[in-house]
Amino acid sequence: MSLFDKFADVADLYAHLTEDGIAPVGTPIERVLSPTHGIVDGKEVILAGTNNYLGLTYDPACIEAGKQSLDEEGTGTTGSRLANGSYHGHHALEAELSRAFCMRSAIVFTTGYQANLGIISTIVGRGDAIVMDADSHASIYDGAKMSGADVHRFRHNDAADLAKRVKRLKSKVDHVLIITEGIFSMLGDRAPIREIVEVKRESGAYLMIDEAHSFGILGPRGLGLAEAQGCLQDMDFVLGTFSKSLGSVGGYCVSDHEGLDAVRHSMRAYMFTASSTPASIATVRAALQVMQERPELRAQLRRNFERVYEGLKNLGFVLGPQPGPVVAARFEDATEALHAWRRLLAAGVYVNLVVPPATPGQYSLLRCSLSAAHSDDEVDRILAGYARIQS
Ligand code: PMP
Repeated sequence: MSLFDKFADVADLYAHLTEDGIAPVGTPIERVLSPTHGIVDGKEVILAGTNNYLGLTYDPACIEAGKQSLDEEGTGTTGSRLANGSYHGHHALEAELSRAFCMRSAIVFTTGYQANLGIISTIVGRGDAIVMDADSHASIYDGAKMSGADVHRFRHNDAADLAKRVKRLKSKVDHVLIITEGIFSMLGDRAPIREIVEVKRESGAYLMIDEAHSFGILGPRGLGLAEAQGCLQDMDFVLGTFSKSLGSVGGYCVSDHEGLDAVRHSMRAYMFTASSTPASIATVRAALQVMQERPELRAQLRRNFERVYEGLKNLGFVLGPQPGPVVAARFEDATEALHAWRRLLAAGVYVNLVVPPATPGQYSLLRCSLSAAHSDDEVDRILAGYARIQS
């Protein structure tokens, strides 16, 4: 038995997916031309699989901020904030996030993955319990596993199932941490956050929300699902990423608990890794400002995703339960989904192909993510591409 035998199934699946042409997983994007255009397989395509929700990757203010930071602060921090120190930008961004959320503390991480890993694995431990949505992101699962707490899953978006589980656990453990996402990354559906808040209030549990796919998109100020539903103040911890709406890289946790800041000095995923580059912090700060000053980007994104959702529904695709920045069409068979992905690419539209086990359930998805930067004409062409799959 070789060390690598256990990867044979994954290698076979990847070989099967790539045998007829370009890889649908880890697709080589030969060149990026704009937030919505790139070259794939030698051909110009519309990028609709990027999570570039506000289209800010080429925003002039963000690019200028990044360039200026490179000139003034160099390419990297070359170490962790604890060891090498925090740059001005790290502190400034944390203050700006605290202010935006009206919460006392904010911690910035090098990635969103590390935000979940660091916070979850540190704030609860042996003797505590985590009750998390079954469709949670891998970083939530990994953080939960590392925490040493008892880990329980509730049925996806089922607050009654959550309530039952929390009630059963409450008297047996020290603390319960409930975890959900805002908009879910695969189907684009939203957590029943008000019902989840009810469970938190009745049980005295702590509540964490990962707004990775809803930050910059939902709510009057773009802060996410909790803000949109009027219950931001009920969140103990709000986590998110800078890699989607803000078009950069990094992650954050904000909280009104004064204790959060001290957690910084106990989190391995924060302490033992290099801090974000000054240039990525600078682009995030500029993007946060754009997000706050230009609510019309959220409105444009909404128009685009509502058009695509309605259009695909009318074409007969099976979609998630509600329109969102992610519009996922469901296929029972992975090979059928792969053929559809190739036809869509041939029609000049690049989306994400997601196959089990990365999807919830046994089905495969063509996952289209919309951007405020998609023009009406590009949305028409995305819809025309999908129509070709059905013909
Ligand atoms: N949480 C969720 C729900 C995500 O979808 C992702 C990224 N796909 C992350 C966390 C991790 O974010 P990052 O890319 O910044 O590591």
